[in-house]
Amino acid sequence: MPEPLYAITPEEEARVYAGGVRVRVLRAGWFRPDAGGFFGVVPKALWSRFTETDERGRLLCRLNLLLVEAGGKRILVETGTGVRVGEKDRDIKGIEGGDPAGALRAVGEDPASIDYVVLSHLHYDHAGGMVDAAGRPAFTGARYVVQRDEGEAAHGDELRLAGLMETEQLDLVRAAGQLAEVQGEVELVAGVSVLRTGGHTRGSQAVLLGAQNGGARAEDPQEHGIFWGDLIPTRWQISVRWVSAYDDYPIAAVEVRSELVQRAAAEGWWCYFTHDPGDLPVQIEATEKGGFRVRQG
Ligand SMILES: [Zn+2]
Repeated sequence: MPEPLYAITPEEEARVYAGGVRVRVLRAGWFRPDAGGFFGVVPKALWSRFTETDERGRLLCRLNLLLVEAGGKRILVETGTGVRVGEKDRDIKGIEGGDPAGALRAVGEDPASIDYVVLSHLHYDHAGGMVDAAGRPAFTGARYVVQRDEGEAAHGDELRLAGLMETEQLDLVRAAGQLAEVQGEVELVAGVSVLRTGGHTRGSQAVLLGAQNGGARAEDPQEHGIFWGDLIPTRWQISVRWVSAYDDYPIAAVEVRSELVQRAAAEGWWCYFTHDPGDLPVQIEATEKGGFRVRQG
């Protein structure tokens, strides 16, 4: 049986982190980024040990969103490509699905029930679904959380970024009074924080899952998780120097990846990768050679 385009982690397999933060992965379709861009300066001889390309040199990647429930609030992390990408672009980028509200409805969840929408950054495959086909916010009851730096970059005059950011969608959400610009590390609800990382884009942010103090009883969940955004798009790119050609600030990206990957390995954080085609979350561990890998079993 072919797998459905849209799917969510089954209720009974939802992960619960410290403080009762409940997380499910919402699979919102597929896209196929160009492998050369995706792996940047990493030689094909190295990355082809992990994955392969289609006949057009593209990688089969997922659009992974998170549905987070904490403190009585519902948080959607990322919006996928949305429904406004034209046919030609959908073909070049190999997009299937990508509609975040449609994905929620397909799994029996109401888009109007979402309180916060977190955008890791403003590239098309993350922020393209902020608004619907008519240009209205796709999540009518939500505040959209974006780093201030990212909004400023979208409106900046850097030629490199021209046409790469979802500036129009950002402005439509702002005009609707639903934009919440934040700066740095901000707790949205107890146990769910956004953390500005930069690196991939000027105002890229990750999402930290789990309260610092999870509860006193032995049976209380104590674990923590992280949604990496495109700072680390898939498990293939855990090596901290494997930055992509889409990273605007590669030197900063390597530094912040190094710091966070070390913490994630040392503290056993469960990792959610935006574009990973495999089962999530996974934990990572240090190798004998000083690198990192996905922990097996
Ligand atoms: Zn991406």
